[in-house]
Amino acid sequence: MGTFAFYANTIFTPLDKIRDGLVLVEDGVIVKAGARRHLRAPRGATVVDLGDHILAPGLVDIHTHGAARHDSMEASEAALAAIGRFYASHGVTSYLSTTMTADIPATLAAARGLGGWIRHAQSSRDWPERFGARPLGIHFEGPFISTLRCGAQPKKFVHKPSVGTFARMLEAAGKTGRVITLAPEVEGGLDLLRYARRRGVRVTIGHSDATAGEAERAIAAGASHATHVYNAMRPFSHRDPGIIGAVLTDDRISAELICDGVHVLPEAVRLLVRAKSLERVLLVTDSISAAGMPDGRYRLGTITVQVRGGICRTRGKNLAGSTLTLDSALRNLARFIGRSEAECLRCATLNPARIIGVEKNKGTIAPGADADFAVFDKHWKVKQTFIGGIAVLPERSRAGEGPKRAGRG
Ligand SMILES: [Zn+2]
Repeated sequence: MGTFAFYANTIFTPLDKIRDGLVLVEDGVIVKAGARRHLRAPRGATVVDLGDHILAPGLVDIHTHGAARHDSMEASEAALAAIGRFYASHGVTSYLSTTMTADIPATLAAARGLGGWIRHAQSSRDWPERFGARPLGIHFEGPFISTLRCGAQPKKFVHKPSVGTFARMLEAAGKTGRVITLAPEVEGGLDLLRYARRRGVRVTIGHSDATAGEAERAIAAGASHATHVYNAMRPFSHRDPGIIGAVLTDDRISAELICDGVHVLPEAVRLLVRAKSLERVLLVTDSISAAGMPDGRYRLGTITVQVRGGICRTRGKNLAGSTLTLDSALRNLARFIGRSEAECLRCATLNPARIIGVEKNKGTIAPGADADFAVFDKHWKVKQTFIGGIAVLPERSRAGEGPKRAGRG
């Protein structure tokens, strides 16, 4: 692999801005990052000059079900490759394979299949070239949710919270279970929450009819996060603020947001950001197999979804995931709240990496972190993606535009 020197006029780490910057990468890991006037590339380093483009940490999506006609729960080589390459084309370098509520045998089979692929992704050097973005673990969305707030999750497969069943899911996943979405107010929910925390799994509350008090008890018991806030939750009212009231006002918890302008309208996005600050909002796509595809019928876990105008709905007309990509979520958020993409960048990089405890390696440009980069033009469109220092999305060569390689160094 050797040593690489990435030059860019603008680097966002994401919290700091470096002008005329240099990132030194050795064997896929960042060793130094700073202004060019303070740093020097060693002799023999391969220079990757990104010119006027923006160098940012690779994006991290902790809630996505699939893309490019494939669903995570297929857990096949074809599915992982199609999904991961699609994500990489949108600047995403790591993600959590997200399951949805299904019967227990199907859930265990998906956990076993995905677990095997995820362990392979962790140890395989040529993963990015073959599969694009790296799956870091599994996000179990269900089956321990509220039958009152299923959204598109099939009600018939919803399960009472069960430590025993979840233990089997974790075992099938073989140490790759990272996050579980659960409804804490359902009988046994808090016990399951505490068990998940003891097993090192992050708990996110969602698909939940919790009252504010029930949500507060879950936060006190260790829930750190809330799944696609506003969607599939007991609605907010001033006499019954519910889970949304708790999420908006409790600084101990961060909030996922599906920022496509359909799941949550801009006023509600502004309210969320005012309440949580950009520090505690994280962008997710909740994308399904229809992402990157034309309108039509698609699979989401165990159900069929109709996509019209890029909007996914079940037969019962519930929203059913999205066709959103994380780079467009970033641009939407900036537009909806009147801030810059640079300010919002942490919501798609550092914040999600923190939630799953990988912020030393992912979602940041700092010494010791993996050389996972998204390269944007000035309109924040993705031009190139690097994973472990390897270009997985070479820019289509258009004359006079984009990164050039030179022998400097
Ligand atoms: Zn989902």
